[in-house]
Amino acid sequence: MSTREGVDLEDVYFAQRDQENTQKLAEKLAGERDVAAAAERKALHGGKCGKCGGELAQQVFRGEQIDVCGDCGAVLLDPGELQKLAGEDESSVLHGLAAIFGGRR
Ligand SMILES: [Zn+2]
Repeated sequence: MSTREGVDLEDVYFAQRDQENTQKLAEKLAGERDVAAAAERKALHGGKCGKCGGELAQQVFRGEQIDVCGDCGAVLLDPGELQKLAGEDESSVLHGLAAIFGGRR
């Protein structure tokens, strides 16, 4: 038999456990929603121009494969491509852009 105090401690333990389980479930569901939303975005926008929605085509520019919109000519660079194109020449415009948008100098 539990004392009154023992029952209270059990209640507190189970309430905390339920709260932790509820929080873990909410985090898991939120993560699954994020993954589903990312997949939906990719299905809808993948391979499309972010400016006009046109189809992107790959072109080689200075040895790098870059995505160019067939409709408006906008260029989409993957992570790291701007830095590769900028190279080591610190006086180039691309190097300046890479420093601003690429997070390194
Ligand atoms: Zn476009």
